Amino acid sequence: MPYTSDDCLFCAIVAGAIPADVVHRDDHVVAFRDINPQAPTHILVVPTTHYENVAEVAADDPSGLAALVLTARTLAQAEGIDRSGYRLVTNTGADAGQTVFHTHLHLLGGRHLTWPPG
Ligand code: AMP
Ligand code: ZN
Repeated sequence: MPYTSDDCLFCAIVAGAIPADVVHRDDHVVAFRDINPQAPTHILVVPTTHYENVAEVAADDPSGLAALVLTARTLAQAEGIDRSGYRLVTNTGADAGQTVFHTHLHLLGGRHLTWPPG
């Protein structure tokens, strides 16, 4: 049973206690559509274990980090954006705009994304 945190929105989604538009689920990774999409494809890819940020995943479970990225690639293929291009974003901390402190990759694509981000 992976570690979970009380009062964590994404732990609740992983557990199925709060509904979400889940597009992928396995023992290590859950992915669901962002409730406030910023692009035609905007999917959040999260570890089933509660980690506050992506560096914690890298330090504690490197293969789990790889699983997040590879799941994002598979979903990009399923969404038909692997060739047109997509962006993986992971915000860490307040200045980056992190609002949910259960780490997640934002998979964004389906339109031209500006660079640099704001
Ligand atoms: P961040 O600001 O990087 O922490 O990203 C948090 C993301 O979670 C935002 O893009 C929100 O729109 C999204 N979000 C918040 N609540 C939900 C929810 N219940 N279901 C799906 N996405 C959510
Ligand atoms: Zn959590």
